[in-house]
Amino acid sequence: MKDNYRAVVIGGGVVGCSVLYHLAKQGWKDILLIERSELTSGSSWHAAGGFHTLNGDPNVAKLQAYTVSLYKELEELSGQKCGLHLTGGAMMADSPERMDFLRHTHAKGRYLGMSTEIITPSEVKEMFPLLDESHFVGALWDPVEGHLDPSGTTHAYAKSAKILGADLSLRNRVIELNQNSDGVWNVVTEKGTTTTEHVVNAGGLWAREVGRMVGLELPLLAMEHHYILTDEIPEVVDFNEKTGKELIHVIDFKGEIYTRQEQKGVLLGTYEQACEPWSPIETPWTFGHELLEPNLERISPSLEVGFKHFPPLEKAGIRKMINGPFTFAPDGNPLIGPVPGLTNYWSACAVMAGFSQGGGVGLALSNWMIEGDPGHDIFGMDIARFGDFATLRYTNAKVRENYSRRFRISFPNEELDAGRPHQTTPIYDLLMDQNAVMGNSWGLENALWFAPSKEEAKNVLSFYRSNDFNSVKNEVKSVRSGVGLTEISNFAKYRISGVDAESWLSELMTNNIPKKGRIVLTPMLNEFGKVIGDFTIAQISQGDFYIWGSQNAQKHHMRWFKNHLNDQDQVNIECIDQNLVGLSIAGPQSRNVLQKLVDTDISNNNFKFMSSQKMDVAGAPCIVSRITFTGDLGYEIWMEPSYQRKVYLSLKSAGKDFKIIDFGTRALLSMRLEKNFPTWGHELRPIYGPYECSLDRFIKLDKNIFIGSDAARKEMENGPNLKRVSFIIDAEDADVMGDEPIWANVPKGEFTKFITETKSGESPTRFDKDGKSCPKIESNTSDGDWNVVGWVTSGGYGHHVDLSLAQGYIPFSLFKEHNEKKFQVEILGKKYNAKITIDAPFDPSGSVMRG
Ligand SMILES: Cc1cc2nc3c(=O)[nH]c(=O)nc-3n(C[C@H](O)[C@H](O)[C@H](O)COP(=O)(O)OP(=O)(O)OC[C@H]3O[C@@H](n4cnc5c(N)ncnc54)[C@H](O)[C@@H]3O)c2cc1C
Repeated sequence: MKDNYRAVVIGGGVVGCSVLYHLAKQGWKDILLIERSELTSGSSWHAAGGFHTLNGDPNVAKLQAYTVSLYKELEELSGQKCGLHLTGGAMMADSPERMDFLRHTHAKGRYLGMSTEIITPSEVKEMFPLLDESHFVGALWDPVEGHLDPSGTTHAYAKSAKILGADLSLRNRVIELNQNSDGVWNVVTEKGTTTTEHVVNAGGLWAREVGRMVGLELPLLAMEHHYILTDEIPEVVDFNEKTGKELIHVIDFKGEIYTRQEQKGVLLGTYEQACEPWSPIETPWTFGHELLEPNLERISPSLEVGFKHFPPLEKAGIRKMINGPFTFAPDGNPLIGPVPGLTNYWSACAVMAGFSQGGGVGLALSNWMIEGDPGHDIFGMDIARFGDFATLRYTNAKVRENYSRRFRISFPNEELDAGRPHQTTPIYDLLMDQNAVMGNSWGLENALWFAPSKEEAKNVLSFYRSNDFNSVKNEVKSVRSGVGLTEISNFAKYRISGVDAESWLSELMTNNIPKKGRIVLTPMLNEFGKVIGDFTIAQISQGDFYIWGSQNAQKHHMRWFKNHLNDQDQVNIECIDQNLVGLSIAGPQSRNVLQKLVDTDISNNNFKFMSSQKMDVAGAPCIVSRITFTGDLGYEIWMEPSYQRKVYLSLKSAGKDFKIIDFGTRALLSMRLEKNFPTWGHELRPIYGPYECSLDRFIKLDKNIFIGSDAARKEMENGPNLKRVSFIIDAEDADVMGDEPIWANVPKGEFTKFITETKSGESPTRFDKDGKSCPKIESNTSDGDWNVVGWVTSGGYGHHVDLSLAQGYIPFSLFKEHNEKKFQVEILGKKYNAKITIDAPFDPSGSVMRG
């Protein structure tokens, strides 16, 4: 260990070793990994070693594919075998709902360059002879699945890093982390102190403790996890002898189990319902290379199903039973990136599938440390996606829920209950009294829709139009024809003030900064000209700006704002969070309702579209903005929480004569689709440029230079690669959920290769069963004259216009010819004709909202 390093990685599990390798590979010198014991001494040594590419988030799936592609490179560089078995794997569906889920997953794989296939249970049996196929209706086959040697792989990362010049210090615990006023970290270890510019927390099971060294409470929890290893099974030996092949991996959703061949028997793991957290408050430093006491009773319900579905297992003896802990974040995805509020303290924690995700995590984090940007759309893994609401107990409830749902279907209309209600606004009970069906938005309860009765106030889970359909339709129709009231507290809110506020904002935002009393909509770009935010800004009084944005990106955006604030800037940035709550009224009668409660003249002449000002509403001090996401005439009304009940009840009472109704987020989103409005996290993400997103009118290249303006200018001059478009779909009984492939009648290869590479980035090398490289573009992107040319980002039913609507991306060159082409969108395995609509289906001229 030297006196000084550029970066110190704490933790020699698979993740820490991957981060070290990627930093070394990208040319960083003077980097050190410190490990308390031997390498793999946390979760890594007893992992089952399985890997796969499929993930609910296509961006995470992409990084998983990268991880798998890396192992050959590591073996070649280090000479250390990873013990790769690329067997392929099948996910088994036992019900039509699970089959729908697999079809949706398969469709998503089409534009990611994945070569998944829908196959029959009999076809699975040919590759996994232990299966009783009568229990299943179908399966999803993924050739890029398998298992490896966890210890060999971790050492291959470490050896490769060492070859590239990195240092390792083993049997040396980091005891303290202290930062000097100049930002340099003192890393106090059992073997002395070293200094470093950057610290990476890859502490795995002890990540919380390494966080606490700097006052950080990371939202993660370790869960106990079992797998069993059987004795030799004659059917396995027989299969190996006859075919010369190994059994494939199988996931059985019904039994919540995964299984694969291990020696001449099988390994079978469970994500059991009666799951158990391990060391929920603190991980003991004394925990060594140890396993936990197995609990057969806990996993026996899963085993019973397993014995039925894989009959030879019932007779097989259990050779060994493993119970080990590993960590999860509340949503099961890793927590990576620069920790908000700290300088050069990086997180590489909560990686629950280190052998599928470790490479991608190392790549993204090292890019971020070196280039200032992860280089991929990793919002789903960004540590900043959780706010202060993710406390220890909340995390505990959510992690348990997530663990027990690992092999469950996620329905598009599903809300998860654990830890709720967590945060509520003052009108929560008033909304519940009106049969609100609530959702959880970043820890906060918000009304999704209103049911006709208490008994009906629940989501009937489905991939198809469900029990909310008629209620949401009624809400939309009432708003469009009269007036509706909804809560909008689940926006992020910031206040930016100070003498330099305007110029500072103008350097961050693409649009002109609004004059006093006015509002603008503006994207925010990174240096590469990609869209990293989308905001509404109002200048309420001179130099006093309020900004509204996406709630789940609040911490992420605050980190960006703070990172772009210099000492000399006289700017105050306040994240208001739930200290300001909101209501919105919309519809042609909304002005008449609001006018009854305010003393200001809010006629169109006096309070125009895109105006914002302080105004008393029912005597409560509020900020009122003339804007609404429904695209109607409408207002957003912001107030301190203590006034919310009064304002809400007053609006309801003033609206009685106009038949005011409550509407929820689902109606709001239906109405925004009818206006072709994009949303953050779906249409707007850091993989798109502003012209690709069709945000042209918000990009003011002739104002001052702003972050990303050079790249945006280039995009405009060269033309965008992609184009966001809206579709009207001839759907039947299901609308899009997001991530569906878009097909067009274009020649094979013309756009599909482009789209696959654009979406999945640098496509990793894939291997076939003999270890040879597979072509990147697979046959399932093509079907006769039809080829996959894009992907859906979001959609649903437009209840006022009575149309099934979707938004998505296609190549710009294809967009230019869209009048001559035909399009289809695949929903649950069936292709439906889809027509691009340039004009918004509702009020294309915008006269209604301006009126
Ligand atoms: C039973 C079981 C089966 C699993 N099966 C799979 C599977 O099939 N596929 C898969 O991808 N994943 C699997 N996993 C999960 C996998 O093990 C984890 O994703 C992975 O090990 C996480 O690696 P890590 O490097 O983040 O953490 P860890 O492996 O926990 O490593 C953290 C390291 O940091 C060190 N450390 C902590 N604090 C300090 C300190 N202060 N100073 C110095 N060193 C410190 C620890 O000693 C430890 O070695 C399984 C886990 C279990 C328990």
